[in-house]
Amino acid sequence: MNPDEEVQARIHLVFQKFRDIRSARGVMCYLREAHLPLPVRPLHGPAPHEVIWQDARASSVRDILQNPAYAGAYVYGRKVKDPTKRRPGAPGSGHVRQPVDKWEICLHNVYPAYIRWEEFLANQAQLRANQLNYREELHGVPRKGQALLQGIVRCGYCGAFLHLRYSGPHGDFPVYVCNNDQRQFGGKRCQEVRAIALDTQIAQRFLAALHPDQLTLALAALAQLEQEEQAERKQWELRVERVRYEAKRAERQYQVVEPENRLVARSLERQWEEKLRAVEAVEKEYQTWRSARLAPITEADRVSILAVGRDLPLLWQAETTTNADRKQMLHLLIRDVIVDGKRAHGQVWVQVNWQTGAYEEFCYKRSVRSYEASADVETLEQRIRELNAAQLIDAQLAERLNAEGYRTARLHRPFTGGTVWLLREKWGIPTVKINGTEHNPAQWEDGSYSVHGAATHLGVNPSTIHHWLKVGKLTGHQLAKGMPWKIDVTDEDVIQLQEWLRRARR
Ligand SMILES: [Zn+2]
Repeated sequence: MNPDEEVQARIHLVFQKFRDIRSARGVMCYLREAHLPLPVRPLHGPAPHEVIWQDARASSVRDILQNPAYAGAYVYGRKVKDPTKRRPGAPGSGHVRQPVDKWEICLHNVYPAYIRWEEFLANQAQLRANQLNYREELHGVPRKGQALLQGIVRCGYCGAFLHLRYSGPHGDFPVYVCNNDQRQFGGKRCQEVRAIALDTQIAQRFLAALHPDQLTLALAALAQLEQEEQAERKQWELRVERVRYEAKRAERQYQVVEPENRLVARSLERQWEEKLRAVEAVEKEYQTWRSARLAPITEADRVSILAVGRDLPLLWQAETTTNADRKQMLHLLIRDVIVDGKRAHGQVWVQVNWQTGAYEEFCYKRSVRSYEASADVETLEQRIRELNAAQLIDAQLAERLNAEGYRTARLHRPFTGGTVWLLREKWGIPTVKINGTEHNPAQWEDGSYSVHGAATHLGVNPSTIHHWLKVGKLTGHQLAKGMPWKIDVTDEDVIQLQEWLRRARR
């Protein structure tokens, strides 16, 4: 291929992949996996500048996506100088990218275009949004949405922040996912925890912490701390006083020495200097200690803290309060939350780190996929086993469960034959055979055939019967998935199929 064509093809590929993947990083990963380097033209030395091929980097993908020349435009003023952004020793620094509408000159259709201008603009918007998401994740900026802990919930294994993902049939089930491993090393997902259950647990503790009794206790604890600090402060003050006194004394000794006695004077001077340095060191230490202390709580603080404790729970529940507001309230008290969904079977272990530096640990029951969380798993499993043993097929079993008030946990919907089938699969409960545990009869009471009966009747293998059912040469039905087939085999079918077999075998 002509080198220019190869360059063009690669750049086309970048735009094409960005359409699917929507992230520069994603395109970079794709190119690396496919061992497709990117063309770059380093602008060093005399022109013409040769193209060199480099392993894809996110930045070079971004450069291609952000270059208006690929949308056919000649542009001037994409970047402006900003001396405040200059970093010494970094010659390229000190330039700030301008938004498209601030470009001084923008002439369209100057170069052959890889993409249309509209797509170029859409790409810029997508890149900006990605950047914003990334920053928000980095700084835990509260975002709109159902989940409260995004940005403060971390993985108990790897310490990474969990991401929010929506799952479920309608994509409305928020789940916190740790895909740190997956992202960085292409491994498996670390863990995932359902957001609503965890949010509820944390919100309960948050509100409990604001209970007036709790606040009074917290304030009392703070007062205690303050007293201890007071005692420590006294120690520090005494220490500072002592080193200052020693320095003063060394100074006096130096002052009184006769100038002729040079040797003594020099040694005393040195001592004085040492004492001064000691003063400096101790004062610095004292300063560090002091800056690590909290400001003492005044009576006014006390009153307003108790008032907040009264008002916040009301505010929390108010209809006008958005989840973004609630996130901010949580941040006031909770620094982060660490979760570990694998430590104990069926449980989620949680550690709440409060802003005060205190922390608490607890476990709660993980809700399992498809049954009522409040009803015990064992109760449900037991009931399904009983009803299954009573020869109820899945659809009937589901009806019975619904009548008894069981609901699926996920969406609080009634059970269906399908959910029961899934649960049976999971728990290894065998499928009910219509005639008990015996083999299916060749022919059912209503005259329809079982697979094995039809096979004997038509003189073929059971697998052929399955194939014929699949392609519609035979008609049959199952009461439910995993249940025996009931196949209608008419005399006409027999004649036709045997005729067909004769021709096929010839
Ligand atoms: Zn993790």
